[in-house]
Amino acid sequence: MRLILLGCPGAGKGTQAKLISQRYHIPQISTGDILRTAIQQGTALGKKVKEIVESGHLVPDAVVIQLVQERLEQSDCQNGFLLDGFPRTVEQSEALQHLASIDYVIDIDVPEEEIINRLSGRRIHPASGRIYHIQNNPPRVAGRDDVTGDPLIQRPDDREETIRKRLQVYQDQTRPLKEYYQHYKGNNGSPVPRYVKIDGAGTVDEISNKIFSILDKDKCKETIK
Ligand code: AMP
Repeated sequence: MRLILLGCPGAGKGTQAKLISQRYHIPQISTGDILRTAIQQGTALGKKVKEIVESGHLVPDAVVIQLVQERLEQSDCQNGFLLDGFPRTVEQSEALQHLASIDYVIDIDVPEEEIINRLSGRRIHPASGRIYHIQNNPPRVAGRDDVTGDPLIQRPDDREETIRKRLQVYQDQTRPLKEYYQHYKGNNGSPVPRYVKIDGAGTVDEISNKIFSILDKDKCKETIK
């Protein structure tokens, strides 16, 4: 199962990606997580992208394409993977066609008005990537991770002015991908990914159940084959 999760920042991609990855035993490849880890560790890549990521702009296509290419070559991707936050431009999706064929593009659709509230209330546990929301999904103890008790943090790019920038970048550069995948006809006979739009309003479970009901049918078909 090779999947792409599309959706604007705050649509719930990261949360859903974790659930999908657990259910179908496929690795979650989040370019945002890879970049944030590089920034935290102060690697050469991290230093190069820190300012770009924290200001809400997109990292150059060539940088993320190379990251994804290297990640997809690892053995745990042989039976499938879930791309979360990649591709984000038409150029990235064209590059992806040369790296792997994709079965599903799952587009989580959330009205923009809801996004600012969702993102500005988001808190994360950096070591595990667990995601909370101060109102919708609060930790048991305020400001602390449920499992380890570590302090939660707000991502630097989840502040309101940066969120507005990220939404603008999404509108300009990533939104065209919806159209791209809705009308994509394949390349040299390669399989055409199925584009599925999911209404992202509702609880985490409601949304994951909608996604699972589509992907489970596919899993069933695979088992019968
Ligand atoms: P995310 O966690 O997916 O919201 O990504 C956080 C930030 O990392 C984005 O705002 C970009 O600065 C950068 N980033 C993540 N994925 C990509 C990508 N596919 N292309 C360019 N920049 C990216």
